[in-house]
Amino acid sequence: MKITDITFGMLRVPLKTPFKTALRTVDTVEDIVVIVHTDTGHVGYGEAPATAVITGDTHGSIVEAIGKFIRPRLIGQEIANLNHITDLVQTALERNTSAKAAVEIAVYDLWAQLYDAPLYKMLGGGDPVITTDITISVDYIDKMVADSISAVERGFESLKIKVGKDIGLDIERVKAIYSAVEGRALLRLDANQGWTAKQAVFAMQHLEDAGVVLELLEQPVKARDLDGLKYVTDRVHTPVMADESVFGPTEVIDLIKMRAADIINIKLMKTGGISNAIRIADIASLYGVECMIGCMIETSISVAAAVHVAAAKANVITKVDLDGPSLGQFNPVEGGVIFNESEITITEAPGLGIREIRGLEMLPG
Ligand code: MG
Repeated sequence: MKITDITFGMLRVPLKTPFKTALRTVDTVEDIVVIVHTDTGHVGYGEAPATAVITGDTHGSIVEAIGKFIRPRLIGQEIANLNHITDLVQTALERNTSAKAAVEIAVYDLWAQLYDAPLYKMLGGGDPVITTDITISVDYIDKMVADSISAVERGFESLKIKVGKDIGLDIERVKAIYSAVEGRALLRLDANQGWTAKQAVFAMQHLEDAGVVLELLEQPVKARDLDGLKYVTDRVHTPVMADESVFGPTEVIDLIKMRAADIINIKLMKTGGISNAIRIADIASLYGVECMIGCMIETSISVAAAVHVAAAKANVITKVDLDGPSLGQFNPVEGGVIFNESEITITEAPGLGIREIRGLEMLPG
């Protein structure tokens, strides 16, 4: 099975409610779909969103990075030589992690199809059913409480609460949600870089003293402020998770050695795909550090890939934040991973099992 071409499409799915964090507001999924073609007629699918404020990737940069730098290296490559292909992808150009991720996802899809097995089995196997949390966007307190109650009623047992806008209001938001769902759902707090280190310590100590139990605090400070992240980690009881502060495996090693955070949030769009996500999981596992697996605003193509990684690395990926597909007004993908609210199930279909992508507009490039 040899790669013959890589083509692109645009996939648009309106969200049920706008996704609001301290960094941005998004109301529609608009993702580049990457299609890797082979001489056997097998097709692999990958996907990447534009997240300019996090990875720096835009739709234009994703298509250009793949079309001009990655595709020329991959044409003619044998899918069976997976490690060689992932090296070619990772060394094609600096950064551009979302572009690399989209290509790797499609290549891993084909690699598992080559051996007629679902991807998670090729990655070592595991339980094909995992449970995700859901994001509660930052908003007025009453709206956040109502969204939280509604999520619990839909069966979600973990809520990812977005904060990081205004420290005083954030504390009130968390207290109100906690008292509304106490005992029915675990709360994960994501400040998306919105606080200073001192504000984060103040907020967490206030919440801890008030008896609010949180499962974790995610990325309280600016991405580059590792000293600030460590300052918070050293001073609060609640486990602190790094998200925007760590992209690849070497950054994870530095972060763990600094003891700057307790948990690592792995996202394929930050790692540059599956090969480095696996490396990070294995590094964290060696150090006894737990991981979450998360996603950007993505549909069930790239999120399916994350699900396969989560199932295969469940020993260390103990927390799942893969609610991308459930945020959309409809699921455009007919495929091998079934997203049913909090429960995600992998079928026995080979690869990622994607049979059809509805509404895909093909792009030049
Ligand atoms: Mg986050």
